[in-house]
Amino acid sequence: QVRVRFAPSPTGPLHIGGVRTALFNYLFAKKNNGVFYLRIEDTDQTRFVPGAEAYIMEALDWLGIAPEETVGKNEKFGPYRQSDRKEIYQKYADQLINSGWAYYAFDTPETLDALRKEQEAEGKTFIYNHTNREKLDTSLVIAAEEVAKRIANGEHYVIRFKTPVDETLHLKDIIRGDVKFETSLLDDKVLFKSDGMPTYHLANIVDDHLMETSHVIRGEEWLPSMPLHVLLYRAFGWDAPEFAHLPLILKPIGNGKLSKRDGDKLGFPVFPLEWKTEEGVSSGYREKGFFPEAVVNFLALLGWNDGTDKEIFSLDELVESFDLNRVHKSGAKFDPEKNKWFNHQHLIQQNDEDLAKAFSPILIEKGVDISKYDVTRIVSLIKERAHFVSEFWDLTDFFFQAPTAYDEKAIKNWKEETPALMQELISTLEYIDGFDSANIEAIVKDWLTKNEIGMGKVMQPFRLSLVGALKGPHLFDIVEIIGKEETISRIQKAIS
Ligand code: GLU
Repeated sequence: QVRVRFAPSPTGPLHIGGVRTALFNYLFAKKNNGVFYLRIEDTDQTRFVPGAEAYIMEALDWLGIAPEETVGKNEKFGPYRQSDRKEIYQKYADQLINSGWAYYAFDTPETLDALRKEQEAEGKTFIYNHTNREKLDTSLVIAAEEVAKRIANGEHYVIRFKTPVDETLHLKDIIRGDVKFETSLLDDKVLFKSDGMPTYHLANIVDDHLMETSHVIRGEEWLPSMPLHVLLYRAFGWDAPEFAHLPLILKPIGNGKLSKRDGDKLGFPVFPLEWKTEEGVSSGYREKGFFPEAVVNFLALLGWNDGTDKEIFSLDELVESFDLNRVHKSGAKFDPEKNKWFNHQHLIQQNDEDLAKAFSPILIEKGVDISKYDVTRIVSLIKERAHFVSEFWDLTDFFFQAPTAYDEKAIKNWKEETPALMQELISTLEYIDGFDSANIEAIVKDWLTKNEIGMGKVMQPFRLSLVGALKGPHLFDIVEIIGKEETISRIQKAIS
């Protein structure tokens, strides 16, 4: 069975790159009738940030990609928070010591530093592996009783992995194909510390195994850890899951990985939800008015496509088309303008009732009595022009209130004859029964043709009187919606 996980460390708000990792795991699980679970990797207590765990869960919920199993929910292989699994890891660290795959190291930062400097002075790069491990204060050179005594005395130690000497690892990554690593270049990474806490590497492998993870899908920044992880599976005698390392998300301008600072600089969010700290507020896609479906859609296309030009996908369609083999190797450029376009595409797909419901609180705040209007119809007339519901007010205010000023450029086209024409227009409108858009349009145009009056001469000042500017949807739709009385009163006000 396919079982995949998202395993964030709660060190702050979830960055958009993390959200994409979660999404790809979710899509892969659903596509293969598998399970997507969330594990909280909080073994590094120094980097723990309160609120981050709740933030991650809320963000995934909002996006509609909540895990099936996580802290407090179907904890089949629980607990799902690593700090609640402390006892488990000690046993596995001991197992590696006993099988000779790991050793105790007592060296202090000072002795390590001294050795590093010495070797650098000789022009060598210091690597903590077979080239140095026996020169240091480790259980590889100290007698077993002595080791036991020092540990019992409470001396600080770490448990390090004993990387095999001079081996070429040929590994397989679903996205990158064959990847090669030389073990002689790897560090003997720390797996466990004397405070009883495992490091990320040990906890991650133990948990992926115990939680029956079939595929590890994560960001490219973890690719360098892959050889160690595969070696750890070997050391435990476990089958390794399959690996897929997702391409980086790149800055919109220039080179390098997208960062929070890029967002701040260019005024777009890099977080799903707003995140508040004492230093300030980082904006979120939710608060900026993005639809969760739009965010999911643009994230899915950062490094993946279905092989066609198709860009607009619902979550279900993404599940249907998703294929890890189609994920690109190269980084994906983040494009804030394109993200807005995605939101627009999802906005126009929403049904008008839902959009009206989303718009209503804004109208109420503006003092509009919404019971008097067909907000759904109004929204249907302008949604094509909007990226966000928050733009609706500026696109519709004239439906709810007469203009208080007129666009200056447009007013210049106001001719001497205009007031008289507008007066005639009023008389025409006054006699219309059946005040609906098509009917009004037919009658007004009939009046214009019969009297050989140019369209522009009437339509521009007419629109200006109603809207205050030469913008807005089809003029006769506006006329119908604001009604005969209000239309006439606005024209009168404009010519007075
Ligand atoms: N805890 C790691 C992170 O913060 C997980 C990496 C992995 O998926 O193995 O991204």
